Amino acid sequence: MNFFSTFSSEEACERYLMKMRWPDGMPCLRCGGKEFYPRLKDRRAYQCRSCRFFNRPTAGTIFHRTRTSLQHWFVALFLCSFDKRGLSALLLSEQLGVRYENAWAMLQRVRHAMAKRDKQYKLSGYVEMDEMFVGAPTEAKKRGRGTEKTPVLVAVSYVQGKDDEEYMGFAKMRSVKTIDAPTVILFAKDLIELGSTVRTDGLSVFPSLEEHGFIHDRNPVKKRKAHVVLPHVHTYISNLKAFVQGTHHGLDETHLQQYLDEFCYRFNRRRHRHEMFDRLLLACLEKEETPLSALTG
Ligand SMILES: [Zn+2]
Repeated sequence: MNFFSTFSSEEACERYLMKMRWPDGMPCLRCGGKEFYPRLKDRRAYQCRSCRFFNRPTAGTIFHRTRTSLQHWFVALFLCSFDKRGLSALLLSEQLGVRYENAWAMLQRVRHAMAKRDKQYKLSGYVEMDEMFVGAPTEAKKRGRGTEKTPVLVAVSYVQGKDDEEYMGFAKMRSVKTIDAPTVILFAKDLIELGSTVRTDGLSVFPSLEEHGFIHDRNPVKKRKAHVVLPHVHTYISNLKAFVQGTHHGLDETHLQQYLDEFCYRFNRRRHRHEMFDRLLLACLEKEETPLSALTG
């Protein structure tokens, strides 16, 4: 109720967005001035008093050049923030009363913003790494290393607390074509800080990470079960599988990485759920370098 009374109009959403994006006031994109004429009702732009340039508060963000109103966007972000299991395009289209394709495109943009945000951080300290396979339910007949499933590399950091207890930290995932030594090395180098301790099972697909600046903690699975050797990454993977089945009823290969990004983003902020809306809005307000048309194509 608080949400809907706060964002009761398009203008209220816009004011909030501007405050989040420029806590010290919006500067004119052309001259840097901060004085604007009152905004015209039918124009999502503010004219600069000194250079007359029309500034759009959503310029360069995922909200720019969409026909969707900010109010719709805000409700979508709200639902994304508070639904633990993630939001399907079908549910969003029903909630907003928009076409499925429209809801799907919105979610793709939000997932893109989530991924971009998470790319700013690497895992560090102690990290567990493993592989998993994700596929559409119709292809799920063969389990494990079947050819119709997409391999995914998973890394989860953990910290040692008191009493030798370990706690999960942050996660990263990458959908890959195949799991071989170069792919694993690239994944580790891109997403884990050098010098970190990486714990894997004893499989030969995990090359010696020592040669690449990591401390490699290799644990043969033979004697003990996989979830004992790599407890954190296995807990994470079973949560992910529940998400895939429950929210999306299986995932297709084409957009797999975006779904993985969403799951990671949510997991990495699981202790900040009450701040999720503002954090997600900020992530969505980050300036885009790539044309957004590439996202939904
Ligand atoms: Zn100006």
